[in-house]
Amino acid sequence: MQFHLNGYRTGDPAVAEPAAELGGGDALPETVDVLIVGCGPAGLALAAQLSAFPEIRTAIVEQKSGPLLRGQADGIACRTMEMFEAYGFAEKVLKEACWVNETSFWKPDETRPGSIVRSGRIQDTEDGLSEFPHVILNQARVHDFFLEVMRNAPTRLVPHYDRRLVDLTIDTEAPAGAAAVDVRLERADAGHEGEIETLKARYVVGCDGARSAVRGSLGRELHGDSANAAWGVMDVLAVTDFPDIRMKALIQSEQEGSIVLIPREGGYLVRLYVELDKLNAGERVRNRNITVEDLIAAVQRIFSPYSFSAKEVAWWSVYEIGQRLTDKFDDVPEDATETRLPRVFIAGDACHTHSPKAGQGMNVSMQDAFNLGWKLAAVIRGLAEPALLHSYSAERQAVAKELIDFDREWAEILSGTKKGSEIRKPDPKVTQDYFVRHGRYTAGTATRLPASVLSAADGFQHLARGLPIGMRFHSAPVIRVADAKPMQLGHVAAADGRWRLYAFAGPDGAAPGSRLAALCAFLAGDPASPVRRHTPAGADIDAVIDLRAVFQQGHRDLAVDAMPQLLKPVKGRYGLVDYEKMFSPDLKAGQDIFDLRSIDREGCMVLVRPDQYVASILPLDAHGALADYFAGFMIARSKALAPAE
Ligand SMILES: Cc1cc2nc3c(=O)[nH]c(=O)nc-3n(C[C@H](O)[C@H](O)[C@H](O)COP(=O)(O)OP(=O)(O)OC[C@H]3O[C@@H](n4cnc5c(N)ncnc54)[C@H](O)[C@@H]3O)c2cc1C
Repeated sequence: MQFHLNGYRTGDPAVAEPAAELGGGDALPETVDVLIVGCGPAGLALAAQLSAFPEIRTAIVEQKSGPLLRGQADGIACRTMEMFEAYGFAEKVLKEACWVNETSFWKPDETRPGSIVRSGRIQDTEDGLSEFPHVILNQARVHDFFLEVMRNAPTRLVPHYDRRLVDLTIDTEAPAGAAAVDVRLERADAGHEGEIETLKARYVVGCDGARSAVRGSLGRELHGDSANAAWGVMDVLAVTDFPDIRMKALIQSEQEGSIVLIPREGGYLVRLYVELDKLNAGERVRNRNITVEDLIAAVQRIFSPYSFSAKEVAWWSVYEIGQRLTDKFDDVPEDATETRLPRVFIAGDACHTHSPKAGQGMNVSMQDAFNLGWKLAAVIRGLAEPALLHSYSAERQAVAKELIDFDREWAEILSGTKKGSEIRKPDPKVTQDYFVRHGRYTAGTATRLPASVLSAADGFQHLARGLPIGMRFHSAPVIRVADAKPMQLGHVAAADGRWRLYAFAGPDGAAPGSRLAALCAFLAGDPASPVRRHTPAGADIDAVIDLRAVFQQGHRDLAVDAMPQLLKPVKGRYGLVDYEKMFSPDLKAGQDIFDLRSIDREGCMVLVRPDQYVASILPLDAHGALADYFAGFMIARSKALAPAE
């Protein structure tokens, strides 16, 4: 973490200096750049990202009276932890959460009818998949961490609760940049019940869950299977002699259905997903009048021969599951992408719903927002062409489609299938094999974004085989040269909208005449340099593209004073030197990033998007190709920072 750049500041460095102009009180502004609807994981992940930019007027509204306190999702995939690191709260989550280290599998005991027996136990996440584990934490706490980021940001962004979006209309003829979305909101706070407020927004993002009013206003629908599987879920403090109660466990009984057991934060709490009977066509689970006592009784039957005594149920719910997806995540019809720019987006459950069994809902929703956040920021700040916003739906709809297909298959494996009167029972061996095979997928690390203006052709993939283009940048350990700090290279990437350009040096490092030295000279001084072309006047040189060099030599074999100026940039109001741009492999620990990520010893550039996905891999001397990549969607700085209308 870097601070004191613009002068010494006392107090908590995570609390940014407030921006000069802050909106006051509970009054909604009349006009905003971005209106976010819904304070779930998607809405808060987006709001937290946008709150970092004082020049963007963001508002977030929520129909409930305050923050979520309990319940809903709890699984946090490795990939999501990597994202939390960028927001600055991964360590807090690591400390508070329950870590899923192993998963156990239970099946019907063939020798004792009516009993279950352990059939297998496996490591939950394969070694080296991520520097972070798979963890479990109440969704409400995840919300709290985002809310804290927002409160501490320069904009001091806080949600407007008790505001329900009623509807919105879009002036599709308005010029790009205009606040062309008219929104109506209904208040529910004391003394204002039923009052309608109106607001104009340049962009609206519907993060308003499965029954999204924003989606409804766009005339879009969720398509897919009707909900035909009903599950009960409870967070419970219980006394039991079931031996794997602190282990994630998939339990399949002979006659009584299945349980997914998730140990929870704090050492005592457990979440149990209990399979209920399959629903008939058109049937709603709420009509079955299922009680928490029914759920407890089902657990007791499935757990046999083990005892289970529920002492306190902190939260419970029953709901039906359908895998559903909307065909586009913005307001632009498929046949109008050439002529219209998106102004309204939907994210998270508003555009895809799936079962909780693969633990993806919260994770994928936040990844939607992470994808959209930097794009909105780049467009509103005048750095990127508005057409960039088309890529949000294109990229995330493809990811959601894959998720829906996976979830359908996994749900069937766990619960079996019902065709007419024929019921095919789940097979415990198939369950375990499938779980292992799809470990990378559920960890969130298998996502590969489809080719687009943002994913360069993979012609130079061979220069860094372990960092696939279109997939998330897989971090690795390094040593920071200037202060010999062992750290993860990926952790230099904050959720600040900046691009990271990792220049892996050849054997000659940054010596005069080396390709790295030539790259630094090009980036710093050439009129065609994307750093020069796209960094706004007056901003620090790394404000848009943040160059980091990784050398092959150990840190003691490198001379900091002989490094190119761009690797020791002068920044801020005092012209202080940023020494945190140079890295060496962690040779002492035997972890050479060049080997770990199969990076060619001749060196290369790895360009990483603000949402941590690998955008391009290029030879160190491919200056023109690097410039062309950015020119494809970024605006030259002479046009940058045009004020919003
Ligand atoms: C009751 C419930 C139980 C769940 N249980 C589990 C579980 O056990 N395991 C699991 O993995 N996943 C569970 N999920 C799903 C998981 O919580 C979601 O996948 C995840 O929260 C999606 O995040 P989101 O931000 O897209 O939407 P949500 O978390 O649904 O957030 C949407 C927000 O928008 C607000 N909102 C809706 N309409 C409006 C409006 N018109 N105006 C203003 N605000 C509005 C809502 O109040 C809500 O706060 C559950 C979801 C719900 C609703």
